[in-house]
Amino acid sequence: MALRYAILSSGSSGNCLWVQGGGVEILVDCGLSARRIGERLAAVGGDLRNVQAVVCTHGHGDHVAGAAVLARRYGLEVHGSAGTLRHIRGEPPPERLHPVGVRDRFRIGGLEIRLAPTPHDAVGSCSVVVADGETSLGVVTDLGKPTETVRKHLEGVDALVLEMNHDRQMLIDGPYPEMLKRRIAGDLGHLSNDQSAELLAQLLHPGLQQLALAHLSEHNNLPEIARDTAGEVLANAALSPNLVVAEQHRPGEPVLLRTRRKGQLGLPF
Ligand SMILES: [Zn+2]
Ligand SMILES: [Zn+2]
Repeated sequence: MALRYAILSSGSSGNCLWVQGGGVEILVDCGLSARRIGERLAAVGGDLRNVQAVVCTHGHGDHVAGAAVLARRYGLEVHGSAGTLRHIRGEPPPERLHPVGVRDRFRIGGLEIRLAPTPHDAVGSCSVVVADGETSLGVVTDLGKPTETVRKHLEGVDALVLEMNHDRQMLIDGPYPEMLKRRIAGDLGHLSNDQSAELLAQLLHPGLQQLALAHLSEHNNLPEIARDTAGEVLANAALSPNLVVAEQHRPGEPVLLRTRRKGQLGLPF
């Protein structure tokens, strides 16, 4: 079997991704209310009552806001670093919280979850790879700068959800206070389109089936700029994975990954 997933929401007002595979269903991040997550999931044909767990990348509200209610009302097991779990508000039931290390590998049902640390202004922030033995999905947002650790972590995935937060010039010219601009552009902030393009160029490989540009700023970016920036990288590499721009206010189409042919490792050849 192969992974199936849908981006339910992406951006600074809430991030949530649904993944089905290995006999289970999980979320990566839950930065919307549980009710909203349930609505978005239903809109793509899923049901929150079938979801067993959530893996949280870091403790900012746009990634963990729904965690306490999901754990209490729907019985979801919440996995995240100690730094992440500390930031969950609303008194989640302690028995549902599972602290993990930012370099850990662990299993949820038939899924393997692999983490790697990311530079961001939240303690214990990480990128996530979800794999079912046949296919894999990598998720990295809220990344201050591309690092070798992150590049290695995401190497060879079949699907990639990659932050393309802001256009550098739009951020400079935009409405945010100077301090916030510096935070976003800094090494513990978010990836600019150019930084994201640099990382994408390193991660591209012929086996990449799906590429989603994620966590776009609503004030400091435009979907067209993000799409064109990524499109140029893809054209230079003569590769054409399916390219989408993840949205804040509506869920994306569910994606079913194709199982690789035997012997195809998804590495350049
Ligand atoms: Zn975020
Ligand atoms: Zn963040």
